[in-house]
Amino acid sequence: MSDTAPKIAPPHLGEPYLLTPGPLTTSYAVKQAMLRDWGSWDGDFRAVTAEMRKMLLEMINDTKGEFDCVPMQGSGTFSVEAMLASFTPRDGKVLVLSNGAYGKRIAQTLDYLNRDHVVIDKGDYMPPRGEEVTAALRADPAISHVVVVHCETSSGILNPVAEISQAVYAEGRKLLIDSMSAFGAIPLGVSEIRYEAMVSSANKCIEGVPGFGFVIARKDELQAAKGRSHSLSLDLHAQWAHMNKTGQWRFTPPTHVVVAFLEALKAHRAEGGVAGRGARYADNRDVLVEGMRGLGFETLLKDRWLSPIIVTFFNPAHKSFDFNSFYEAMKRKGFIIYPGKLTVVDSFRIGCIGQMDADVMRQVVQAAKDSLNEMGVPDAAPPEQALIERARLAA
Ligand SMILES: *Cc1c(COP(=O)(O)O)cnc(C)c1O
Repeated sequence: MSDTAPKIAPPHLGEPYLLTPGPLTTSYAVKQAMLRDWGSWDGDFRAVTAEMRKMLLEMINDTKGEFDCVPMQGSGTFSVEAMLASFTPRDGKVLVLSNGAYGKRIAQTLDYLNRDHVVIDKGDYMPPRGEEVTAALRADPAISHVVVVHCETSSGILNPVAEISQAVYAEGRKLLIDSMSAFGAIPLGVSEIRYEAMVSSANKCIEGVPGFGFVIARKDELQAAKGRSHSLSLDLHAQWAHMNKTGQWRFTPPTHVVVAFLEALKAHRAEGGVAGRGARYADNRDVLVEGMRGLGFETLLKDRWLSPIIVTFFNPAHKSFDFNSFYEAMKRKGFIIYPGKLTVVDSFRIGCIGQMDADVMRQVVQAAKDSLNEMGVPDAAPPEQALIERARLAA
């Protein structure tokens, strides 16, 4: 390993690993970058902002220079709202492809924004497919935009965005992508997948700390967004124009978070960019899934739809299993896991993203094994109902 190769160090000072999809476990270097104060107007910080925007743009291989990157204060949801408000015309109509909590949130945001919209609701975890998008668009010529979640973090499903993009543009409509939990680990190059804008945030696959999001959008769409936003603070055109003119954020930026994020971007690049980061996460997932299946656990999703971001496992059927006790037992061993978000069957989730490698994931599996033993659960097999549910996926 060279000096610049990423080192996966255990979390600082005995902190637990966060097996959650952001905030997640960050490197010591990222945390350390926050030990300095910055003037938001100062040239040094303006240079940080400029470099960050440039490095983010490099990830989409925009060889024609048609896109720009606009960071936005707040959690990821603020940036999703900013994107929807800025790029969907007030008299437009939006088709939302929903298969989980984040798709639902997009529809809810459009309600707040008073944007006419229809939803294809695939339930908890069925993927929206190109054909049904084509059919919906043909049936309703008023639809101007389609919004899809790249990795639906509530189940961990990796939605087929390339297929959906093709369907959208074949019908002459426009695509917006919530790639919050996927960007940086799953390719979203603009020459492979066509879209107008995508959104992500600091505390997901780039492995920064929470505090802002960013939208990467076509410059012509940013231009057209002038005067469209309902909100002063979430107006992407205004933020973009101001930033390009002055190099500054319009309102107080989360300075420490931005500087930490630049450090995270450098580590991302040193790891081999999107391909390198994606490969480590995929390895994490493979070790986790194989190990957990070895204990009798079953994944909600078939391998084809499993993302390298987060994996949903069914709760074991055994009467001695209780999620809260399992959670506490895992926490005592240094691992914070994540409750499930399914409506039909009980489940929990384990994230594969953050400063973790295959060795850590082996420890996670061992911790799960020990935790089951402590609870007196000899077999982690899920209830029959869960497998019946899952069989729908194959249909
Ligand atoms: C994390 C996430 C968001 C944003 O959530 P915040 O809590 O506002 O940061 C949006 N969409 C997806 C798919 C996510 O994973």
